Amino acid sequence: MQKILLGNTGIQVEGTGFGALPIQRRTLPEAVEILQAAYAGGIRFYDTARAYSDSEEKLGCAFRDVRKDIIIATKTGASTVEEMKRHLEETLRCLQTDYVDIYQLHNPSQVPDADSPLYRQLAAWKAQGVIRHIGLTNHSADNAIAAAQSGLYEVIQFPLSCISAPRDLEVIAACQAHGVGILAMKALAGGLITDASLSYAFLSQYPVVPLWGVQYRHELDNILQLMADPPRLTEAVWEKINALRQELSEDFCRGCGYCLPCPAGIPINNAARMTLLMGRSPWQPYVTPQWQEQMARIENCQHCGACASRCPYHLDTPALLQRNYAQYKQFLKEHHIV
Ligand code: SF4
Ligand code: SF4
Repeated sequence: MQKILLGNTGIQVEGTGFGALPIQRRTLPEAVEILQAAYAGGIRFYDTARAYSDSEEKLGCAFRDVRKDIIIATKTGASTVEEMKRHLEETLRCLQTDYVDIYQLHNPSQVPDADSPLYRQLAAWKAQGVIRHIGLTNHSADNAIAAAQSGLYEVIQFPLSCISAPRDLEVIAACQAHGVGILAMKALAGGLITDASLSYAFLSQYPVVPLWGVQYRHELDNILQLMADPPRLTEAVWEKINALRQELSEDFCRGCGYCLPCPAGIPINNAARMTLLMGRSPWQPYVTPQWQEQMARIENCQHCGACASRCPYHLDTPALLQRNYAQYKQFLKEHHIV
């Protein structure tokens, strides 16, 4: 199994990491079963967040007896020290532990410096051993690179996949140059990459720990299979990656949801990539009366620009929505659904 050293933290990760956002959508017994199956399959790295509702609690239930054998990375989106203290207290209670291996600031719009109250509190916790390493997650390449260069953050989590743009791949180089560990979120680009082996092979070129979001057993089995028999970056794999890159270009919606909320109630994170979603997976779930109603909300877009101003990929979100809506209506017509 491939071993990845996480920057200068001394943490060595075997194979890959488990992204624990989707287990929010399973019951507690189902989530515990899948987490313990991941552990039995050799996964020792788990990433969660205070913001993922009961994900930390499920991890705590699954792993209270093997806490010392696993690495847990979690996140706080707190904007004040008081809020962050409440978050950490709750996190430790839910995880049934007295320390966090990697405590990450969750996608801050600006990177806190060493004198900021938040960072000073993180440093104090690290000195006490309550958190072992300080990390930061971000969707902006500029912020991720600034954090890596600051020398303050030991681990950076950033979206990376086989279709990452050159600017995004610069995050890897910046982290490597400063001894910072790299966690890759959205290795399937929010569901647009349907063959996990492509990103798995692509990312294996770098000292990156990919985090695979797992909700169902078949998804876990797929990841365990890739860990057991890692795909190589052969010419045939490159051909598939290049075809995918051409198909998606660079101005596609990644589904991250940072543009929300929308005053018109548009579910932008799916509506702005509807054509891609319908083309890459079974389309039937997206033409239900509920989805038709949600897509029709695009007609009520007020063009306030709030979504575009919040999009870390600088997309023209309202235009993307209009394009997807026109294609969606065309699809419904062609398939005699309306
Ligand atoms: S429009 Fe931008 S912010 Fe919104 S979901 Fe898509 S990529 Fe994310
Ligand atoms: S521009 Fe339209 S889609 Fe974007 S936030 Fe405003 S109303 Fe919503």
